[in-house]
Amino acid sequence: MQFTYFMPTKVIMGAGCFQKNKELLLSLGRKALIVTGHSSAKVSGALGDITGALSELNIDYMVFDRVMNNPTIACVYEGAALAKDFAAEMIISAGGGSPMDAAKVIALLACERIPPENLFSGKYGKKALPLVLLPTTAGTGSEVTPYAVLTHEKISSKASVSSPLLFPRYAFLDPKYTASLSEEVTINTAIDAMSHAIEGFLCQRATHMSDQLALNSMAEIAGCFAALERHKIGLDERAHLLYGSMLAGMVIAQTGTTAVHSLGYSLTYFKQVDHGRANGLLLGAYLRFVEKAFPERIALMLKSMGYERLSELCSLFDSLLGGKEFITEAEVVRYAEIAAKAKNLTNSLPVPTMADLQGFLRESLVIKD
Ligand code: NAP
Ligand code: FE
Repeated sequence: MQFTYFMPTKVIMGAGCFQKNKELLLSLGRKALIVTGHSSAKVSGALGDITGALSELNIDYMVFDRVMNNPTIACVYEGAALAKDFAAEMIISAGGGSPMDAAKVIALLACERIPPENLFSGKYGKKALPLVLLPTTAGTGSEVTPYAVLTHEKISSKASVSSPLLFPRYAFLDPKYTASLSEEVTINTAIDAMSHAIEGFLCQRATHMSDQLALNSMAEIAGCFAALERHKIGLDERAHLLYGSMLAGMVIAQTGTTAVHSLGYSLTYFKQVDHGRANGLLLGAYLRFVEKAFPERIALMLKSMGYERLSELCSLFDSLLGGKEFITEAEVVRYAEIAAKAKNLTNSLPVPTMADLQGFLRESLVIKD
């Protein structure tokens, strides 16, 4: 057995965990830039908890609340300019993957002049501002990953800034911050988390350690599917989803994602399909493809979720996701070409060919002439 495992983020989970542990921030500095989306930090109650704690601790702060869904490169440079002007010593972010990812790149750009053409190079200096993340969705696991995903116009897709410097210093997981989520975002983000666990498990880079995290994550998330289907999600299920999503983040921090994310980025970039939904639409076709080559791996995965056959899991995805989007043949060809160039595609087990990628899209969406 051989593996490396590195995850330097201190994770604190539980009701009121941020307020109970706020003194930890004192070791990070006296000035904080708070990075959020338009409303999630406010409606979830996280922003009030953060500003309240910072005031009590005499930490000066500014709020940058201009992060949009699927953040752009311009947005992170705007946030970094503010961080530098304010001489921020730490970045705190509350929100879903979009604000948390923007915060990570802002923390990097605040310490280093990186021109946009080198932003995805993976070659950075030795420093980023310390990051404190409070997820308000249970989906991306960004609070424990070294990645930040941005919209990348030049490649007509999304791309990751990836560096161990992006691991947050602290992640505070309080399920109450996810209670204000709409049912739609709750489902899409839960499926994104499930997709991370599944892709990490069916991955060339999977290790014994990441497999255990992935199987546990799948069990946690699948345990909430029945409640999601009945439209009855309580705080207890939200805690399990948040925990499962964090475990899945720990998985992809080791393995990366695979073909599902590579293809899903096009559905988001060109068709504005939500990130988690895009992955969910594609998962069934990808799983049927993997099952042909690695049936024992699929069986293990299904067992951890409490299913016997893959068709049961696929029907559940169909029921949670509802009607499917349309796609043209020209779009099928274009999206497959883009996915074929994505770095994460080669992580897939087995690696799909161009024809396979096109097949996943045809199987997953409704073909329109
Ligand atoms: P998101 O884009 O952060 O948020 C989706 C929507 O939900 C937004 O409208 C947001 O409002 C709202 N929202 C979030 N929390 C809420 C709450 N508690 N109550 C009410 N509304 C709330 O969604 P996400 O799925 O969490 O993140 C997706 C992004 O993460 C994508 O860019 C994806 O590529 C990336 N991602 C990153 C990683 C990683 O490892 N870094 C992994 C997977 C995905 P606001 O507009 O107010 O924020
Ligand atoms: Fe994702």
